[in-house]
Amino acid sequence: MLILVVNAGSSSLKYQLINMEDESVLAKGNCDRIGIDGHVSHKTADGRTVDADCNFPTHTEAFEKLVEVLTTGDAAVIKSMSEISAVGHRIVQGAEVFDRPCLVTPEVIDKIDELRELAPVHNHAHALALRACTAVIPETTPQVVVFDTAFHQTMPPKAYMFALPYEDYEQYHVRKYGFHGTSHRFVSAALAEAMGRDIKDLKIVSCHLGNGSSITAVDGGKCIDTSMGFTPLDGILMGTRCGAVDPSAVTFVADKHHFTPDEMSQYMNKKSGFLGISGISSDNREITAAAEKGDKRALLASEMLAYEIQRYIGAYTAAMNGVDAVLFTGGIGENSWEVRERVCKNMTYFGIEIDEALNKETKGKLQKISKEGSKTEVWVVPTNEELLIARDTLALISK
Ligand code: ADP
Repeated sequence: MLILVVNAGSSSLKYQLINMEDESVLAKGNCDRIGIDGHVSHKTADGRTVDADCNFPTHTEAFEKLVEVLTTGDAAVIKSMSEISAVGHRIVQGAEVFDRPCLVTPEVIDKIDELRELAPVHNHAHALALRACTAVIPETTPQVVVFDTAFHQTMPPKAYMFALPYEDYEQYHVRKYGFHGTSHRFVSAALAEAMGRDIKDLKIVSCHLGNGSSITAVDGGKCIDTSMGFTPLDGILMGTRCGAVDPSAVTFVADKHHFTPDEMSQYMNKKSGFLGISGISSDNREITAAAEKGDKRALLASEMLAYEIQRYIGAYTAAMNGVDAVLFTGGIGENSWEVRERVCKNMTYFGIEIDEALNKETKGKLQKISKEGSKTEVWVVPTNEELLIARDTLALISK
């Protein structure tokens, strides 16, 4: 059984075709630069590729190209779209409306579009992609939507409310939603399986560290708190995002620079974080390399990241009244032994002791990196959001 997983942005359409018999990826690619000019890059599991400039005025042409490269030419992997059992779509914001995956109907697409006020960059693009997909794939192929926010809908009000006037929650739905939910759900379940434990008995701090980073407290398999908030800007510092700052600093800086709200948002989302502190790069590899060469601001960025993660581990251990395991995932969490070492140093009070040699050699694979006697286990768990979307899609269409 084949499932097509789609991750659509405002100008891109990333996809993976997954064979659910063995959960292998048959082909993956990206129809990029939608609305600008257009480019397709496509790669099959056996190494055949398509790399070409195209014309994508809208998501519909991008979807038509996706169908074309999957079904025709030298890098085709299927003969017709009817071989695909279902399409699973990643959706960023489901707000309080969607707390689980669901089948796509015209009403569901309209609702996702309506939520665009809460996720301006993403939700409208998702709706455009859903409509384009509906127009291009066979009418009988079911589609499923899987939400980044859904896993976090189990947070209690004391964790998701901001202490702003309550009416703005009621009227404008201003609250913490949390993001990366599909990743946190996937890695916490994978960790419980690796530990040979029932997830219901585990307290996990899940650290997803990439260009965007978030930390989630998973108690008994449920999210009870998470670091990202109303948008993916909150929490720890990231590649170009500032994370949490005193709200008064925001109004002060906006005033000093005469920024409009949009300009202030750009400043916090695109010019801050690693990039803003170091002045060098948003990329963890470049920050680590510069810090090693003695660059003071790069070192400061590295230290800030580790310190903020430590504070979240402490806070979430308090929130759960304990912690059995801390896990690292995402591009940084899976690959950077330096970041993991910096975080796990001086956390012995929390029962965290890593095996430094094992940590150094662990890259992109499922591995326990804590010492045998460590009260709290520390693991590297590779994430795979596409696979979980495919599994959710399969589960829903099998019902
Ligand atoms: P996104 O949030 O866009 O999905 P990723 O999860 O791919 O991002 O993470 C990107 C980050 O991971 C970058 O900061 C990059 O430097 C870091 N990264 C990727 N590979 C390595 C590596 N081998 N060593 C250290 N950092 C890495």
